[in-house]
Amino acid sequence: MLDYINAPGRIYDIQGYAVHDGPGIRTTVYTKGCPLRCLWCHSPESQRRDFELGYLPVKCLGADICEDDCIKACPEGAISRDKPVPAPDGSGDIQKIIIDRAKCTGCMKCAEACICEALYTAGWDTTVDEVYNRVMKDVSFFADGGGITISGGEAMAQFDFTLNLAKRLKDSGIHICLDTTGFAPTAHFEEIMPYIDLFLYDIKHMDPIMHKKLTGTDNEIILKNARFLAEHGAALQIRFPIIPRLNDQETNIRKTAEFCASLGESVKLVQLLPYHKAGRSKYDRLGWHYRLRRVEPPDEDFMQKTLELFQGMGLNAQIH
Ligand code: SF4
Ligand code: SF4
Ligand code: SF4
Repeated sequence: MLDYINAPGRIYDIQGYAVHDGPGIRTTVYTKGCPLRCLWCHSPESQRRDFELGYLPVKCLGADICEDDCIKACPEGAISRDKPVPAPDGSGDIQKIIIDRAKCTGCMKCAEACICEALYTAGWDTTVDEVYNRVMKDVSFFADGGGITISGGEAMAQFDFTLNLAKRLKDSGIHICLDTTGFAPTAHFEEIMPYIDLFLYDIKHMDPIMHKKLTGTDNEIILKNARFLAEHGAALQIRFPIIPRLNDQETNIRKTAEFCASLGESVKLVQLLPYHKAGRSKYDRLGWHYRLRRVEPPDEDFMQKTLELFQGMGLNAQIH
């Protein structure tokens, strides 16, 4: 029996039947808070540790119907009626809302008042016990080699929670993946390593200046931790997001492949992740500006050539 504590944590989602977060069918726990700020981030709600106010206009019934519930609930006067739009059922016009994000303090009183969850809070506080009990309901799906993936945000930013969750799951014989940016103290990786079966490890750019421009952080600790894990026998699945014009220069791709190859047999797989636009609508929901509106996904030929370059260095690579 391992020694663990029922540590508190903050998460923003738990998704069952996940097939892109490691081998087999998995349940993924998404922690809230990330030290990086990648320009292409597909889960902006994961970035800040604070709760986020989300708004899904498609769910809003209209302020006439709910009698201005959210407008009345807001102590800052940050919500007002939007201009009238036709109701989806053709019954006339309805007025949805607009939020003045500059005035919003994040008290979430409007989300509590909204009867149809058009306004919602992204994130909730939990504990290791609570998450353990939830994910263990999915255990029958893991027979084919699946398990639990602890993801984020950056799960290592809530180290006590992540370490103790991993310990508890390990105690139950569950296969555990940790999806990480690598941006955390090396000592933390050393401590958690015995409980992690596979690290899903992101490499975003090899050049430190470009890395900082694209993600807001230096890559030194990230590359150092990847080397540390490889030298200490951890299993790594490297994930390389390919973002046109930002990190798809031949020099960077070659250096990334060389770096992965230099990590030796620890690297079980390299996944090349072509940029996609799926996360854009989440920015609208949070009232954030999405800065890559002009970036399009890389074409198939380019991805195929990139794949061949990685494979040519003896790496087990795939386009994901
Ligand atoms: S590391 Fe992941 S969660 Fe953090 S900002 Fe980058 S893409 Fe978003
Ligand atoms: S979360 Fe923001 S918009 Fe909602 S009630 Fe509080 S201050 Fe108003
Ligand atoms: S967001 Fe909710 S509370 Fe606000 S007007 Fe729409 S339905 Fe009413």
